Amino acid sequence: MSGKVVIISGPSGAGKSTLVKRLFEICPLPLALSVSATTRAPRPDEVDGVSYHFLSHDEFERRRLNDDFLEYKEVFGQGQWYGTLEQSVSDGQASGKWVILEIDVAGALSVIDRIPDAITIFINPGSMEELERRLRNRQTDSEEAILRRLQVAKHEMSNRHHYQHQITNDEVDRAARQVSQLLQALETK
Ligand code: 5GP
Repeated sequence: MSGKVVIISGPSGAGKSTLVKRLFEICPLPLALSVSATTRAPRPDEVDGVSYHFLSHDEFERRRLNDDFLEYKEVFGQGQWYGTLEQSVSDGQASGKWVILEIDVAGALSVIDRIPDAITIFINPGSMEELERRLRNRQTDSEEAILRRLQVAKHEMSNRHHYQHQITNDEVDRAARQVSQLLQALETK
């Protein structure tokens, strides 16, 4: 049996990572997380190989030339690259898992081209004020980086109509439950 691919997108700061973590705790389906590669520096609480595969620019380029990526994008237009490794998706699918991809809108559109039956879910922040507050509370980004993320967030929100499903993350437990129920409802389809 081949597993399904589930794309979860939404602006940076919408709480996607926390929601996905919670989803893994509560969802009875066999889920696997696709760990992306990135050239950006790890945050203090991030672990290499778990949060991301943290690669140098040279290593990212080597893997890109090797055709290792299902898709790759320069997400914030500031020289940092993010990419979905083909193998992390195919390994999960081959073992019958639901592979969760937490990627941006441009990356999602590329994946849909390659995997047309992918399930797509957009996570809305509770509000733009809440989004800005979350980005600022992280205290890991410069003012310039925060403003850039807010600008990109607005762009991401304007593309949410490309997604089959939308969930609002105003309360993480509830939002995770909604995603879990949605996936279970799709299991029988
Ligand atoms: P962050 O730097 O906050 O971890 O992630 C920034 C953004 O990059 C997130 O909105 C996330 O959806 C996106 N992202 C993470 N991994 C990938 C990936 O492999 N491909 C693409 N296209 N976007 C990604």
